[in-house]
Amino acid sequence: MLAAGRVQVNDEVERDRQRRIGPFDVVVCDGEILQATRARYLMINKPAGVVSATRDDHHSTVLDLLPEDQREGLHLAGRLDFNSTGLVLLTNDGDWSRQLSQPENQVSKHYRVTVEKPLAEEYVAAFAEGMWFEYEGIVTRPATLKIRSTFEADVWLCEGRYHQIKRMFGRFDNKVLTLHRLAIGNLVLDEKLKPGEWRELTASELAVFL
Ligand code: URA
Repeated sequence: MLAAGRVQVNDEVERDRQRRIGPFDVVVCDGEILQATRARYLMINKPAGVVSATRDDHHSTVLDLLPEDQREGLHLAGRLDFNSTGLVLLTNDGDWSRQLSQPENQVSKHYRVTVEKPLAEEYVAAFAEGMWFEYEGIVTRPATLKIRSTFEADVWLCEGRYHQIKRMFGRFDNKVLTLHRLAIGNLVLDEKLKPGEWRELTASELAVFL
């Protein structure tokens, strides 16, 4: 079939049997579509009280926020805790989400946090130095903390350990009351999206991302 020129990949006749086919290549043989999956990239403003998963036995998930006909094949590129809010990315492109989560790519995530007790300047150095996490046996990577007001701060992290931000403020016995993700790398949560709303990423967002 290849030799006879009956196979097309992305609208071009393909004769090379060594050609590697990716998940989003369109493959047609004798006019019959054998494969045609569109790569999808979505942002969603996660509300509190929703699990960052595609399935859960007890609670609704981020995926449940999409209409049923939009969910197929999507997975989450990074999670937020049950009560955290803000930017979560969804995709069907495994290479893309892997790149995002690779520690060596150092994608920085920006969070806005409110806490129970007044913030102090000493937190800034402690976040920048890193903290010993006994359970993982690691020191956290340098993180940036910017105090915005008595009870509100911005945090930038290049990793995502379990409950990381809550544990870091926990070192000062200061409870995190709200935690909202504003950005992942250059990709900023669209402020027009209300909690629970989503949209596809634009071509320019995809192009500048990382
Ligand atoms: N750190 C946390 O503690 N929770 C999140 O959801 C994200 C970062």
